Amino acid sequence: MTTKIIHFMVNGTLEKAEFEADCSAADVKDVFRAAAEAGPHHILKLYSVDGGVLNISPLLEANGEDSYYRLEVVASDLKSVGMPNELDTMEHRLHHLESRVMEDVGQTPEVVCDLKSQVESFKRKLESVKHLSWMELFKEDGDHQSSPKPRSSLLSVQEEHQQVRRKFLNMSSLQVTEEVREHLKTPTFDNWQWEEAEMLVLLQVMFTDLDFLTAFHIQLDVLQNFLFQVFCHYNNIPFHNFRHCFCVTQMMYGLIWLTDLKSKVSRIDLLVMLTSALCHDLDHPGYNNVFQINAQTDLALRYNDISPLENHHCAVAFGIMSEPECNILKNLSSDQYKHIRGGMIRCILATDMARHNEILHKFKSIQPVFNFTNKEHKEVLMKIMVKVSDISNEARPMAVAEPWLDCLLQEFFNQSDTEKLKGLPVAPFMDRDKVSKPSSQTGFIRFVLLPLFTEITKLFPCLEEHILEPVRRALDFYSDLERAGKQQQEEEKQGEQEEQGRSSAGGAVL
Ligand code: 5GP
Ligand code: MN
Repeated sequence: MTTKIIHFMVNGTLEKAEFEADCSAADVKDVFRAAAEAGPHHILKLYSVDGGVLNISPLLEANGEDSYYRLEVVASDLKSVGMPNELDTMEHRLHHLESRVMEDVGQTPEVVCDLKSQVESFKRKLESVKHLSWMELFKEDGDHQSSPKPRSSLLSVQEEHQQVRRKFLNMSSLQVTEEVREHLKTPTFDNWQWEEAEMLVLLQVMFTDLDFLTAFHIQLDVLQNFLFQVFCHYNNIPFHNFRHCFCVTQMMYGLIWLTDLKSKVSRIDLLVMLTSALCHDLDHPGYNNVFQINAQTDLALRYNDISPLENHHCAVAFGIMSEPECNILKNLSSDQYKHIRGGMIRCILATDMARHNEILHKFKSIQPVFNFTNKEHKEVLMKIMVKVSDISNEARPMAVAEPWLDCLLQEFFNQSDTEKLKGLPVAPFMDRDKVSKPSSQTGFIRFVLLPLFTEITKLFPCLEEHILEPVRRALDFYSDLERAGKQQQEEEKQGEQEEQGRSSAGGAVL
């Protein structure tokens, strides 16, 4: 039987919990309760290194002493937390209401049935949200089809990864047809058709078809180890996952071909851009910089609130390459290594959207005199290319782009739910009560995508049809949806007012 060891900090002391993988959730909770000297009604919250809330269960991932979790007792009594208590009260009052109406009328009226189903559905939602597990409503083995497939335990994550590795190594890049190779060079490529091992093969194809292996003496097995480690270091979260990494890298690859960048910048800079795209969100925890800073997570502490996530993504990238068997840069001269390290740090740090205007303005100011041989100009362009790739989902065909928006909103809502529970500030664009798919996209396309894509299109006019046009179409689509939504709301409001008018007029006659 495997024993799991969990290191965690509670009341300022580093503690160790040990339990068998097949013990019950209650047993695990009791171990933590005892360590925190908490009573049976105390609520325990366990946080990961990155500040995410962990579910206290036998599936908890084992950790090392240097990556300990943080255990907190957040309330001494379940009732003082509010929501579960309110839920209980709501159910109780509904039950009471139903029985009184039954006595009077003999059947449950429709409005009570509606209320019951709303409360039931809200409860089901709470039960299915893992990071609300500290409310003790979360159901470990519930059959919640709509939630993403959980990575069950540390062991099975490793097993899953090894399966992907075996599949990846068994597939040769020679099996990738010429048709797919060509399609891979365009923004219309459909990422949803490919599973993880196949995406790894396609990434390998990108490195080989840009001649990086020969130019930089990269051994195939080293490239494969590197790509596999990159895959392992993306988390299973709704948006900032390995598939997003693949999409951003594939867009970067497409842009390189569409703009014939090979003839304009050196190959080493192409390597910087492609590798930066690949590594730009490594180990993203699913909670943005604002959260990291407000929640004072370990990442914010480590990087003094300065782009904590981007600094982390980049540090993880070079951590992977510090292992010789994964180091695709090991056969380069120290000058080449320095060039690539500097370039990747610049490009990855440039993906912090807090710096969006600063970088775009810089690019705009050099645009009229842009010169590919000017080092400063070229460095701004490299940042812009990675940024364009990073936020390019809406430049893809609608069928490819739309599911990405669902993923993004799911991650936003996870964050804002956590912020509400922790009493942290909530950004309106992440708030499930304030955001819809069209409202999220019209602003982002108008104020972020179009200005950026227009600027890059001035330098590379051929990008107009490939990325600018699709983004304009997406804006039209979401603007229409937004208008239709508003019109429907207006009609509903008018209908309600007319209804009210009729009933008060009726009352007057009586
Ligand atoms: P990333 O976090 O992926 O490095 O940086 C990109 C950020 O831009 C995302 O976190 C997200 O906030 C924003 N973003 C990217 N694509 C979209 C989109 O299609 N719609 C909206 N509303 N925001 C986006
Ligand atoms: Mn990204």
